[in-house]
Amino acid sequence: MSWLKRQSFLGPNSEDLLRNATVGIVGLGGGGSHIGQQLAHAGIGNFVVVDPDTIEDHNLNRLIGGKFKFLKRGKAKVVIARDLILGIQPTARVQMERSLWQVAAESLRRCDVIVGGLDSFRARDELERFCRQNLIPYIDMGMDVTKVGDGFLVAGQVLLSSPGGPCLRCVGVVTDERLSEEAAKYGAAGGKPQVVWPNGVLASIAVGLLMQLIAPWHRKAVASVYREFDGNTHIVRESPKWKSLEGRSCPHHPANERGDPTFDIRRWLEMPVISPKKPPFWRAMLEHFSAWWAQR
Ligand SMILES: [Zn+2]
Repeated sequence: MSWLKRQSFLGPNSEDLLRNATVGIVGLGGGGSHIGQQLAHAGIGNFVVVDPDTIEDHNLNRLIGGKFKFLKRGKAKVVIARDLILGIQPTARVQMERSLWQVAAESLRRCDVIVGGLDSFRARDELERFCRQNLIPYIDMGMDVTKVGDGFLVAGQVLLSSPGGPCLRCVGVVTDERLSEEAAKYGAAGGKPQVVWPNGVLASIAVGLLMQLIAPWHRKAVASVYREFDGNTHIVRESPKWKSLEGRSCPHHPANERGDPTFDIRRWLEMPVISPKKPPFWRAMLEHFSAWWAQR
């Protein structure tokens, strides 16, 4: 009997689909560390984990898998993620990329889904563009603690960003103003307040979105979703601006944006996650990509 029998409702072939899927996790210091843990429990078989950093004492308040004893030698975050995943699922394949994600682009290109837990707006913007160019669904998690009056506002958001659908710029997470503000600080996003529990909420939503992309259990599977989390009231809601964006095509990443010249959609079509049993939105995405491919 399979160790995943308690989640067999995900579909008769879900175990194979999950085992054959490859998920990229970019940024492992906060939300990304929850993603590796949950996906290992959920049966994802292949991982590409990307982060250039080693653990430091200020990471211990939120890095899942982080241990006090790792501080002395400064264990790499990719190694912590790998050990955490293999401790749960010893047969999983984990490719470690201890670098900036741009250096790991070749490995990330073969992922079925990429999840980002990055601090900087510039990095999130660029990673989303990379995913769109390579026709990979991207799930972005972001969290901020802002001082308002004499209190603090804890807020986060999760965007499932698929080629053609609303992007981080459409929902107003990435703006020119934020990018220039960040550039003025030389891209330094470090040192911002961060805590473990909102990361856990956002990561659980991200994993839910990822599972409905891969396993054919969800009757209303969707390609694009935006959710906001209010960490003061503990309420997750659909952003009010989402209604006006639904069904509209994104002007920031046009379909004729040049992708990887070596990419061949026929290879993508042969991937195990694309099967006739997939939820209807996969079909729609497939038709969209095929039409776009034919026009290139
Ligand atoms: Zn957009």
